[in-house]
Amino acid sequence: MADTTADLRPGLSGVDHAELVAWFGARGEPAYRARQVMTALWSGSAERAGDLSTLPRALADALDDAFRWSTVDDETLVRSDAGQTEKALHRLADGATVESVLMHYPATAGRRARHTLCISSQAGCAVGCPFCATGELGFTRDLATAEILDQVRSAGRRMQAGERVTNVVFMGMGEPLLNLDRVLEAVAALNDPARLGLGARHITVSTSGVVPGIRRLTELGPQFTLAISIHAARDALRDVLVPLNRRWPVAEVVAAARDHARATGRRVSYEVTMIGGVNDTHADADALADLLRGDLAHVNLIPMNPVAHTPWQASPMPVIERFAGRIRAAGIPVTIRRNRGVEIGAACGQLAAERAGQPAAPAVARRRERLEVASARALRGQRSDEPIPAGVE
Ligand code: SAH
Ligand code: SF4
Repeated sequence: MADTTADLRPGLSGVDHAELVAWFGARGEPAYRARQVMTALWSGSAERAGDLSTLPRALADALDDAFRWSTVDDETLVRSDAGQTEKALHRLADGATVESVLMHYPATAGRRARHTLCISSQAGCAVGCPFCATGELGFTRDLATAEILDQVRSAGRRMQAGERVTNVVFMGMGEPLLNLDRVLEAVAALNDPARLGLGARHITVSTSGVVPGIRRLTELGPQFTLAISIHAARDALRDVLVPLNRRWPVAEVVAAARDHARATGRRVSYEVTMIGGVNDTHADADALADLLRGDLAHVNLIPMNPVAHTPWQASPMPVIERFAGRIRAAGIPVTIRRNRGVEIGAACGQLAAERAGQPAAPAVARRRERLEVASARALRGQRSDEPIPAGVE
């Protein structure tokens, strides 16, 4: 429900350096004030401009009147994997909720510790993949640039001394390429050495296959790793698993991703959520291998996290290993990803979905039946006659 008393001040994290210099300039203040504020935003413990000892009081108050220091509240924090995974439910000013998940990977002999944060780009999602809790929630709205960035600042504040977020992945709620302008602004801020200072190799944006968005990214040149949620190489099945496939079929998605890899010289990741008896057959593995053979590609296989409204389960591990073997035999690098935070529902949108309440039992039953029919038809090679989801054009 929209909150009409919502705080409408823009979030300070979404204001870039030049705009902030102009804001200070209009008040007769020097440009270095902008850097002072940005440094405090990204590295200090201040909770408002008024906490900064470096700013004159009246100026700090004016800044607080004009901008919000943070646009996300941490409403709930849940830990799992012996504290190595932490999921946050953030409440936004209008009452919408989004999630981020922080995953700690301890140092190993050859590798430094990593702290990977998975963030949301939209509240809800219009694409409606039936194995995804966010898809079940439907679309609420795009996030503002500051709301994307403030998830990262929130995680930074929750980390221990000496630790920092080392990797950011846009794999939380929402379809980043359907909110591309804001996502690009957020990535530029994450890259900025005066803010988070993350290199392009440490940022991943995942898409369900918005072809014009992929093409636009290719024109811009490498900014981050591109991940494609492919899930199935055959159109009939992908129509069911990723309804956007009815708008941009899998061959078009892969062609755009292939051009991206060639133009940028950067390997594209292909994600497959492994669903038992649905997309894990030998035929599916071979179709995927045929589609990607010879490409600058890497395949990640992820067992499906359980979601209340679907009849589906994760594929058994031996099935995933056999699937991986067939992809590898085609010369395509493949990794099986461990499922982080299963017991806290750390798959995309699950915490927010729980808050939204369980759907009514008859609705779940109807949905399950429809999915079973649709996936059985898809396995026979029949394409879906359902419409393209609304709101994705
Ligand atoms: N909308 C974008 C990014 C957010 S979803 C996209 O679809 O790529 C991020 C990833 O989480 C996607 O690869 C998606 O397929 C995966 N995902 C969603 N629900 C899942 C579940 N129940 N189990 C495992 N992975 C899931
Ligand atoms: Fe949206 Fe991605 Fe979930 Fe599909 S998997 S519904 S595209 S968030």
